[in-house]
Amino acid sequence: MNWRRLLGFDRRSLIALALIAVPAAAVAKPSLLSWGWHGQFGRYDVYADVPPAPQLQAELARSSTLLGASPIDDRALRPTLYLTDGGWRWHLLALTNDRAFAVTRPMLGGTVVNRSDIASDTVFARGYRRTLSGVVAHETVHVLQRERLGLVGFARLPTWVKEGYADYVARESTLSDADVARLRAQGRDDPAIFYHDARLRVSDALTHGETVDQLLRSTS
Ligand SMILES: [Zn+2]
Repeated sequence: MNWRRLLGFDRRSLIALALIAVPAAAVAKPSLLSWGWHGQFGRYDVYADVPPAPQLQAELARSSTLLGASPIDDRALRPTLYLTDGGWRWHLLALTNDRAFAVTRPMLGGTVVNRSDIASDTVFARGYRRTLSGVVAHETVHVLQRERLGLVGFARLPTWVKEGYADYVARESTLSDADVARLRAQGRDDPAIFYHDARLRVSDALTHGETVDQLLRSTS
């Protein structure tokens, strides 16, 4: 009896299945991809292609300091970081978000970072640059928001709170106030303007006495 024929498999469909299943497994668990280096930096479990520059230690310590100023920080959290060179691993894992600085999804079990230069604490995306330490703090805030609110609560959180609070903790936006003023004067739109305004809105709410817990209970 030809079991393969009985099961409806032929060689081409087996190859097609492998081409889908292997990347799907990697997206579900990026550590399955072959990484050249794996180790611990402070609270972070780090995967990278090559041993990271020693500056990463201080940069992730800065991320932790930024997070430590937030009442939702959880020192016991051990987030996983996948540092890519912006190449195939990034595109495979970021999927449709490959224009972002980094991507954090529950399914990924961690944060995947776009091309970075660790020596200068820089991450690159869409012709923009941000600090790696700030981007890691921003992405870790999303993990903390998810821990705090659960998957459903996190999904319902208004985007301006989700992203505005992450940038508020990271103490930076992709665009400076001057960048935003210039883009507005030129009548140009950019998705980063929303993030910039969201950080200011969060900052304004907290300055006026709203607590982070109240902010995370916002419904609109
Ligand atoms: Zn974000």
